[in-house]
Amino acid sequence: MADEGEALWAAGLEVIRILRDRGHEAYLVGGCVRDRLLGRPLHDIDIATSALPEEVTGIFPRTVPTGLKHGTVTVLEGGRIFEVTTFRTESRYSDARRPDEVAFVDELREDLARRDFTINSLAVDLNGEVVDLFDGRKDLADGIIRCVGNASVRFGEDALRMLRAIRFAAEFGFDMTLTVWRGLRGQAERLRFVAMERVGSEWDRMMAGSDPDRACGLLLRSGLLACVKEPLPETVVGRKAANMRWRQCEEYRSLRDIGETEVRWAAFIAQKGASAEEARLLCRTLRFSGKREVRIAAAVAFDRKMMMSSPERSAFITAILDSGRAAAVDWLEMISHQQPYREWLTELTVTTMGQLAAKGDELARSVGKPAGPWVAHLLRRLLEEVAHGRLPNEKDSLLRAAAELANSNKV
Ligand code: ATP
Ligand code: MG
Repeated sequence: MADEGEALWAAGLEVIRILRDRGHEAYLVGGCVRDRLLGRPLHDIDIATSALPEEVTGIFPRTVPTGLKHGTVTVLEGGRIFEVTTFRTESRYSDARRPDEVAFVDELREDLARRDFTINSLAVDLNGEVVDLFDGRKDLADGIIRCVGNASVRFGEDALRMLRAIRFAAEFGFDMTLTVWRGLRGQAERLRFVAMERVGSEWDRMMAGSDPDRACGLLLRSGLLACVKEPLPETVVGRKAANMRWRQCEEYRSLRDIGETEVRWAAFIAQKGASAEEARLLCRTLRFSGKREVRIAAAVAFDRKMMMSSPERSAFITAILDSGRAAAVDWLEMISHQQPYREWLTELTVTTMGQLAAKGDELARSVGKPAGPWVAHLLRRLLEEVAHGRLPNEKDSLLRAAAELANSNKV
């Protein structure tokens, strides 16, 4: 992993060497420089250059015109991918997101000045020397998120930066300057210009990151979540003071201790006191996939059921029959005290109708009635009897129990 990072970095320097040999200025910039100085794993490398996109395309044999409008060309070199962007400055904004025109500016300073935070404004030249025009290294060392320029102005230009501020603060364990925090509070309303998909992906990255508990706390306290384009469920993010806090309950594990991101989401939503329906709405509004929505909502539904009943084996089993074994596994991952539930779950071998030793058509035949919706009710009843240990999962006993239930008109 560390070796791969070194190799990637070296390959990035090679790309800027090729550009320099052709008479252009070129630097490694942004997140890769920050991550390298922090000693964090590198995932991608961005390069800023004085070369125009068509010049970049002419120099490297394998390129993809990813974002020509913004001056970005993807370069494939040495088996790796690099985003190469012509120095630029963004002038005039019509809304809070899109620059009207991207003027190519033959200058590194302007390129770095348009970047969001000082820690993201560092560049590295061919010799590995750091170009630090906005004191980014000091802020990295001190653990501070500071805007390049005036925070309110920068957030006004592009509201997504507000979510990025919180993501970086949580991810690196950094503090925001007071002006960044005030900028967030002051410009929160501008978030209505950001597509819900972007909001969802930023928040999701925070959830998957190193300190989702802190990220959620900052998101709620900042008031940002109450200002997004499409309303999110009141219980989860509402404007009422009580809803603007994130306090973990002791019955649940810290979000950061939970392995999978979907389970972290479910734990967060459940502790906010939201329903499974609200969980689904939140997922849909944040543009999550249907698969994730189903999983998150099932774990929340499981939690609701367990919270509403006494902590007994039978309630646990019923919740498994209703929401499925997978939801039970996710729920166990959310809570602090997993015993004796874990044992109960292991002992429970039959949790679906398909696992019963008699099939629906056999049961219908033995009862002597034409198949219909009543068979599903019968199967569910039998499943409950078996799961709660009141009936063995054997064909004869199931057929006998089916006949009894049918005769007494219980199905
Ligand atoms: P990560 O990839 O870990 O999210 P990053 O800083 O690399 O962090 P990217 O979205 O990959 O983030 O952007 C690369 C660089 O582009 C940033 O480091 C920053 O300099 C600049 N940048 C990205 N988004 C913005 C923005 N909304 N406003 C200003 N500059 C930005
Ligand atoms: Mg990046």
